[in-house]
Amino acid sequence: MNKTRKYFDAEIETMDRDKLEALQLRRLRAQLKRCYRDSEFYRQKFQKAGVKPDDVRSLSDIKYCPFVTKTELRDEQLAFPPFGRHTATPPETWAELHPSSGTTGAPVNNLWSFRDVRNISRWTARTMWTFGVRPGDIIQNGFSYGLWVAGMSTHYAARELGCFVIPIGASMTERQIDYLLNPGSTVLLSTPSYALHIAERLKERGISPEDIPLRIGCFGGEGGAEVSATREKIEKGLGIEAFDYFGLAEIGPTVASECSEKAGIHWVEDHLLIEVIHPETKKTCAPGEVGVLVITHLTKEATPMVRYWSNDLGSLDKTKCKCGRTHARSVGGILGRADDMVIYKGAKFYPVQVEKVVRSFCELSDEFCIELTTDPELHIDRCTVIVECKREEDIPRIKPSLKKGLKEECQVTPGIKFVPFNTLERTTFKAKRILDRREGKRGSIGG
Ligand SMILES: [Zn+2]
Repeated sequence: MNKTRKYFDAEIETMDRDKLEALQLRRLRAQLKRCYRDSEFYRQKFQKAGVKPDDVRSLSDIKYCPFVTKTELRDEQLAFPPFGRHTATPPETWAELHPSSGTTGAPVNNLWSFRDVRNISRWTARTMWTFGVRPGDIIQNGFSYGLWVAGMSTHYAARELGCFVIPIGASMTERQIDYLLNPGSTVLLSTPSYALHIAERLKERGISPEDIPLRIGCFGGEGGAEVSATREKIEKGLGIEAFDYFGLAEIGPTVASECSEKAGIHWVEDHLLIEVIHPETKKTCAPGEVGVLVITHLTKEATPMVRYWSNDLGSLDKTKCKCGRTHARSVGGILGRADDMVIYKGAKFYPVQVEKVVRSFCELSDEFCIELTTDPELHIDRCTVIVECKREEDIPRIKPSLKKGLKEECQVTPGIKFVPFNTLERTTFKAKRILDRREGKRGSIGG
């Protein structure tokens, strides 16, 4: 493989928009026909909505097809265990099982066929090439291995690229640091919060980022890498260039990623059809408008999703990127979860906005938490942002500016609570940012 070439697959990545959309339409029509023919789940859904695969003659005709929600998939699995009737290929084609993490309810089972594994490996290799990963790189894979989609897909992609992999997973922080020193990994894959944790430990061990050969970080599993304050902290703390990655269990891993322009995450549009839908009206959003990302598999065989309601918020820009790629981008990445929205005193905000403010203060650690409680006497909601201050004596000085920053970003003033450094839990997987302790609510939700 020629290391100097710019694109992994130039023909697909830079295909004219018209040609790309024609390819999407061909694949979409074939996919709908297959779902209708081979899946009782889809046939019934389409019949109920009064739509037939042949009714879809253009990409925008997808709007006639009904959405698929996570709740619906859970109910389907329960009624037709273990996998539901949306499994559109026979068992002999199944290669792997990758359920959702189950942070918001019973896990949803997703299957990859052998062909799905090949496609996923190939598009993941493409996205890693876009980040600048090349044959000969040493990849320290700090994504969790096993059932979660990210560890396996990037592992397969590394092989596709001809890289040496250290399949360490999301644990053993001390050993992560040992490997960064020797053999000297050049690429790190992990969640942004785990990368910050590694950077913290690196500093505590007195190792300078210049002492390690690490040069690229690919970060996913949660938002963060596109928040400029977070990106800067990761890049400085590890001496690297950081890129954002996005995937979800029901659709697949690594389905959107940044390019060198860092002008949003490019979707793998030859395999997916992306729509942005207004959460209330359920109509297509205007270009650039933020809404819920609704995703349709164009090539996936085993558990294909047609108009999957992701609950993730983003916008879509179909104009050609400065990098030369034509695949649509979500500028600013994933902006939050539709159900992670905090409504407080009439204002609406997302954890990512709090993150932006908190991480712009060098006096604070990278960890934070949004606690929702009910005032025991007044029975009204309280919202408190919990942060860690590295030195207690800084608190009186930074409190007013932190308050002001949160007010400007969130349009409301939450309470602020300072706790000593290292009080909040460090995560290697997805950080939970919202603790909902209001009356009648239980547990926590997280992105
Ligand atoms: Zn680009």
